[in-house]
Amino acid sequence: MINWATKYDYLGNYNRVPEEPCTVCSKKITPEYSAEQSYFTLYGLPLFALGVKYFKVCDACSAKLKARASDGNLREVKRVIPGKIKLKYVWGWIVLLPAIAGIILLILEIKNS
Ligand SMILES: [Zn+2]
Repeated sequence: MINWATKYDYLGNYNRVPEEPCTVCSKKITPEYSAEQSYFTLYGLPLFALGVKYFKVCDACSAKLKARASDGNLREVKRVIPGKIKLKYVWGWIVLLPAIAGIILLILEIKNS
């Protein structure tokens, strides 16, 4: 059975943004933006960085919303908390590539004998 999952890493938060109305409670609020890096894992080995998701949390009603491209503050938040591709999100290949190469070599050896 193939065991894969998407995992999330907290990247940071930012709340020095101008006030904006909350789409849930309609109050004028200073939302707290936060960012999460998601990555794909196979058998617990990280293989691909999938992208950064930006959220904002209303400081009045605590609603957690996905930040949209139409948010005026998102550009600033992306500048402060950029997504980075780190070895942490792809190191599974170090384990997986030799394993795949080993299997291919084994198949070739069986075919040739
Ligand atoms: Zn709200």
